[in-house]
Amino acid sequence: MGEEVPESMLNSSVEKLSVAYDSESAGYRTSTNFGDKMYVVEGSEYRGKSSVNVTIFDHLTRSWIIPTVLGLKPVHVGGHSAVLLNNDRISIVKKDSMLDDSIWFLEEQKKVLGSEVVAWSKGVIGNAPKPIVISGPSGVGKGTLISKLMKEFPTTYGFSVSHTTRAPRERELDGVHYHFTDRISMEKDIRDGKFLEFASVHENLYGTSIEAVEVVTDSGKRCILDIDVQGARSVRASSLDAIFVFICPPSFEELEKRLRARATEAEEQIQKRLRNARAELDEAKSPGLFDHVLVNDELELSYDNLKKLIASDEIANPLHRSTMKNLKVLVSDVEVKTDKTFLLHCDDNDQLFLDISYLKGGAPGRTRGLDVYPIEPLGDAVNGSTQL
Ligand code: ADP
Ligand code: 5GP
Repeated sequence: MGEEVPESMLNSSVEKLSVAYDSESAGYRTSTNFGDKMYVVEGSEYRGKSSVNVTIFDHLTRSWIIPTVLGLKPVHVGGHSAVLLNNDRISIVKKDSMLDDSIWFLEEQKKVLGSEVVAWSKGVIGNAPKPIVISGPSGVGKGTLISKLMKEFPTTYGFSVSHTTRAPRERELDGVHYHFTDRISMEKDIRDGKFLEFASVHENLYGTSIEAVEVVTDSGKRCILDIDVQGARSVRASSLDAIFVFICPPSFEELEKRLRARATEAEEQIQKRLRNARAELDEAKSPGLFDHVLVNDELELSYDNLKKLIASDEIANPLHRSTMKNLKVLVSDVEVKTDKTFLLHCDDNDQLFLDISYLKGGAPGRTRGLDVYPIEPLGDAVNGSTQL
């Protein structure tokens, strides 16, 4: 951009809370120093349309950078505050927003082709059940086991509908079994950062969009992903906190039998899938990749074992749910108390204590684990103590 940075922006106390109102552009701009860079988040109104833009000032080269911005971004409403958290993300608190849309996070991502990349993530009060990633060779019975789980517990589990460039099989429905797409559109969506993971499987492109997982999780269900081992590896490396289950056949001969009995692929595809199966069975042994391995031998017994291992994981990792998840308030102002707590001033003198000690997940998905506690109106509060 080659523009001089206003001295006021460089010298403001940007390390902590930063709020600036810019009367010329009818918007709010905050600047937050993070390492050698300053992240400028600017909300503006133009012809009734709100937008939030991010620009970066590199203190070393003294130049402006326009980053690639991934993820669903906040809609600007009347201003925001910005705070640097844990030296790894910037929290944006939108003013005059409902609580479930007021806390957003901006994170630096890995550079792509030398260019800066940042990603937005929406903050969610409370935690969601961990998604379950199910992998295993084609024909092992993943779909069969997942269908049984969804049929028995329709309100507990939801399926992450992947995108694929392969053609639909008979009885497969678009938007239900897969989002059937073409390679050009899918590659564009991948470049635009819409995918949590993707892989080339049996010569077609398959991928899990961020939306596919969030739609299920936001609806309060536990998300199930049926993805290949490469996809599982990518999810492991992502911000999504999930459990990983690998389904094994009782023998290679039985796998071949099931694949042929399903009769959904031509011989050439069956051969390809069997070749890939050997590699997947080997790769699944990588230490730390899968939490559980389940042999799908006798179906009912394997299904019971699947339910048991999910239940044992739930006991080992109990879920914290906020009692105030659905609270609707208008956030009118924000005050930083500590690195982990904010005070949100709401309408009618109400105050909320926002606790960000237990954040989970993050860009480009959701950032969960926020908690809020009501505080008595200022006049009645005793030294600002919280009333739980
Ligand atoms: P995947 O989703 O892993 O590709 P499917 O669920 O489509 O596999 O199962 C492949 C075939 O094997 C289907 O015809 C299914 O009915 C059958 N099948 C699944 N599980 C078992 C099992 N435990 N015993 C015998 N056949 C099975
Ligand atoms: P199929 O063509 O039999 O439906 O699926 C072939 C393989 O693609 C299976 O191993 C399945 O787990 C995998 N797969 C399906 N959806 C995805 C996805 O979104 N990402 C990845 N990486 N693999 C997927």
